[in-house]
Amino acid sequence: MELYELTIHEAHELLRKREISSREITESVLDRIDAVEDRVGAYITVTKDQALAHADAADESIKNGDCTPLTGVPLSIKDIICTKGIPTTCASKILKGFIPPYDSTVVQRLKTVNAVIVGKTNLDEFGMGSSTENSAIKTTRNPWDLERIPGGSSGGSAATVASDMCIGSLGTDTGGSIRQPSSHCGVVGLKPTYGRVSRFGLVAFASSLDQIGPIAKDVTDAALLLNVISGHDPNDSTSVQREVPDYTKALVSGLKGVTVGIPTGYDREGVDPDVMGAFQKAVQVIEGLGATCREIILPHNDYSVAVYYLIAPAEASSNLARYDGVKYGFREDSSEDLLKMYSSTRSTGFGPEVQRRIILGTYALSAGYYDAYYGKASQVRTLITEDYKKAFEICDVILTPAAPTPAFRLGEKIEDPLTMYLSDIFTLSANLAGIPGVSVPCGFSQAGLPIGLQILASHFNEAKFLKVAYCFEQATEHHIQKPQFHNS
Ligand code: GLN
Repeated sequence: MELYELTIHEAHELLRKREISSREITESVLDRIDAVEDRVGAYITVTKDQALAHADAADESIKNGDCTPLTGVPLSIKDIICTKGIPTTCASKILKGFIPPYDSTVVQRLKTVNAVIVGKTNLDEFGMGSSTENSAIKTTRNPWDLERIPGGSSGGSAATVASDMCIGSLGTDTGGSIRQPSSHCGVVGLKPTYGRVSRFGLVAFASSLDQIGPIAKDVTDAALLLNVISGHDPNDSTSVQREVPDYTKALVSGLKGVTVGIPTGYDREGVDPDVMGAFQKAVQVIEGLGATCREIILPHNDYSVAVYYLIAPAEASSNLARYDGVKYGFREDSSEDLLKMYSSTRSTGFGPEVQRRIILGTYALSAGYYDAYYGKASQVRTLITEDYKKAFEICDVILTPAAPTPAFRLGEKIEDPLTMYLSDIFTLSANLAGIPGVSVPCGFSQAGLPIGLQILASHFNEAKFLKVAYCFEQATEHHIQKPQFHNS
């Protein structure tokens, strides 16, 4: 076994006992990047020199007896999370040359425990997309089938974890961008409760929905990452002051006494039969472990795609107003006419999907339409949240597939935004309600593509789904399969 194949908890054991050094595992990961990145295309920036410096600092700290679970462990970070001194592109042309003068809170926290940051991963521009094809920088391919998308928008992060180009990663999830790519790449992706993790230094897409979370090789690793990034931050007024439990304490076997809700209507048209098959098998495994399953009804869930695609673009149109050619790197034209400069900078600096969202959002917020669109969407959002509240009165967790199909082909949906938006059907409502969710590998399609099981819990009850995810993982072997890098 190569060092780059280790999980976080395995690496930690070896680092702690000083059987390997952080430099060794970091070099192994960097060699792995050299070997496969050309084919996968998951990194926007590889920070080799910094990574080796972090590794040496970690080794020093381990020598002094200070080895926390992430100390010395090589991680990748989605390139929408600010890293001091390292370009943060959001996979957009408009941020060309932007080097943040500060670290986001999550990165600060990783640095405090001497984790090693190996690079910044590709994404859909500003997080807008489900396939990573909206990146202005490069194409990322799914390690399980290089002709397919890795999912998005955290497709780069999920692909680096799946192809062992890091030991763990951080992504962001506004409507599914951690869970959906994790399901397509066969890894574990966790979106925390809104407010659990600081958004300070996360470039805003839709501020009432965005959340940073772990993408990892297994459930234990996701819990270890969540332990470090969670908690109140005075720099983010939406982060919640609430104790952070040790999430690894939830990882114990046995599901007796756990009630699992299965929403009616998830077996709708458009859900791939392989996905349905894997989902139903997963439910049986979870029942077999002692859980009780019951049907639940989420009456307003069907509106979540429409609601999300009003609220997210509305917030995006406001958040992205700051990129005007004055405050950040890219400027298209230096003519004397200010308005012309703004508009040509924004027309060339933003890609087509971002422009589509800005136009949609501006329209939804405009005088005369505000109540009919944004106002109405906000009301339905409350109903969706209430539905979950009621459901969680009678169950501990809710199960659905993470995505309606396995990874689709590159180019398959890019010309048809509506079809692309529908690939988020199972993930969007958790963001609208602010509840946490995780995707864990639960099988493979006939073509050998990974399928993810989504497990949701009520606000701040990540521990509940971590337990279910952990027991499921212990009872199955999907998470230990590795991609062989083939073309279909
Ligand atoms: N795919 C969704 C979108 O395009 C969600 C993206 C995300 O979670 N960042 O908006």
